[in-house]
Amino acid sequence: MPNSEPGLDFVRAPPSVDNQAGTSAPLCTPAYRIQPGLAAAIALKKSGHNVVVLEKDSGLGGSSGEPDGCARVAANGSKILLDWDLEAMALANATFLPSFWLYKYGPEEAPGSNVLGLHNYEDSLFKEAQMEGRHMVFRHRSLLRILYEKLQPQDNTKAGGDADCGPHVSVLFGAEVVNVDCAACAVTLRSGEVHTADAIIGADGERGIVRRVLMDEENAGPDSATGLALYSAIVPKALVVQNGIADMFEDGNLSSIWAGPNRGNRNGVMEGEAEDVNICLYTPDSSQDGTWKDETEMTITDVLGSCDARIRQLAGLAGPATCVQIKKPYELESWVSSSGRVLALGQAAHPFAPAAFHCYSAALEDGAFIGRIFSHTRDHARVPEFFHAFQEHREPRCARMNGADNVYIQLMTMPDGVMQEGRDAGLRANHAAGRSVLDGDLQDVQDEFIFVCVEVAAASIRSN
Ligand SMILES: Cc1cc2nc3c(=O)[nH]c(=O)nc-3n(C[C@H](O)[C@H](O)[C@H](O)COP(=O)(O)OP(=O)(O)OC[C@H]3O[C@@H](n4cnc5c(N)ncnc54)[C@H](O)[C@@H]3O)c2cc1C
Repeated sequence: MPNSEPGLDFVRAPPSVDNQAGTSAPLCTPAYRIQPGLAAAIALKKSGHNVVVLEKDSGLGGSSGEPDGCARVAANGSKILLDWDLEAMALANATFLPSFWLYKYGPEEAPGSNVLGLHNYEDSLFKEAQMEGRHMVFRHRSLLRILYEKLQPQDNTKAGGDADCGPHVSVLFGAEVVNVDCAACAVTLRSGEVHTADAIIGADGERGIVRRVLMDEENAGPDSATGLALYSAIVPKALVVQNGIADMFEDGNLSSIWAGPNRGNRNGVMEGEAEDVNICLYTPDSSQDGTWKDETEMTITDVLGSCDARIRQLAGLAGPATCVQIKKPYELESWVSSSGRVLALGQAAHPFAPAAFHCYSAALEDGAFIGRIFSHTRDHARVPEFFHAFQEHREPRCARMNGADNVYIQLMTMPDGVMQEGRDAGLRANHAAGRSVLDGDLQDVQDEFIFVCVEVAAASIRSN
């Protein structure tokens, strides 16, 4: 909406590039961190505000030696990418997820004995919700690159704006925040540099400083362990082909989920340069408290347990794996600091389990939403009011998405027993009747997808 009135400064530039905070200067946010940080930066820039994104990594998505990830963007998130004119880039870098096969995780006792059924994300679901988005799967770094390129100055010029006079976004790499001063609305970098702003958005993840600062304000206890960890790795498609298991991912069979006991596994093709395969395993066998960037102490084959021979073969071909513990996170009462000037967003505000279906789409929604809210003001005094409005609107929705994701993980990793027998019988009955495998008993989980589509479609209509 380029506007001749200056906006606000969100995590603001260093003092040498003074943004006249306290006057009617652009609202500037230090939106530090990447995915929702970049998404929020895109949306705030559209709303006419200046943003400085501070990222501790030296380059986009970390160094090339670090493991890459798999970004599954549910339809509500991909709709936002389309709204931001990123369709061509998204189509060139993602694969669609129209359906998935569901299997029992254990060894196959007879041909086909593991099959539980096929789930289709029906076209009608998207059509009813007037959604153009589809579930899409990217490489983590590809998604970051798409968002980052959207922020480059030529986009401003293309949109008819003036690259020199319009709202300005800069992304500073190697800029690790070591302190957040909520009262002064300032952050200090490891280099000693201090950035002040009209507002600070902390999109620095569930282990980041902003969440910690807000937890300290609430005297919160730590997140608690659940005993499950998520292993993630990428298998080069060439190896899948060479080893004769490409049929696992052919004929539209791009993704499969393998359920319990006590483990869950999801495999799927990621489009992009190589169409490689991502393997994700929920396992009770590792207590390593790792991150998305650290290589694992044990290999993925060490923590597979008893499984189908094809899964073991696939896992044996995987590149470096990461291991992230699944925790029951402390739920922040307030996503906003008591000063009203610092907001947590993305995983920092509402941590999803690793590899949950809505991690990325919720982060994209957060970014789009913060931009929409701040399109209504250029008044510095209203930052606390708008930050609180953000939480008020986003918290219930994120809680519903998070709840649906947790149900999926519980269903996937359910131990053998009476409940699991009921689950399998219901799924198999759906499949035998030609229905999608998650229909019926699991309608609540399905409904969440429908709700997601409807609500975002409505929001997009309102914003037009
Ligand atoms: C390398 C990587 C790979 C991932 N792969 C997957 C995957 O395969 N599947 C999946 O479901 N999710 C993955 N994720 C998580 C996924 O990105 C998030 O769940 C989602 O995008 C929302 O993330 P977030 O930005 O809120 O937090 P995060 O993704 O945790 O990002 C936090 C960011 O903040 C930066 N940061 C942290 N502290 C500071 C600081 N003090 N100063 C400056 N910058 C800081 C970090 O470098 C990082 O870029 C991955 C994350 C990363 C970083």
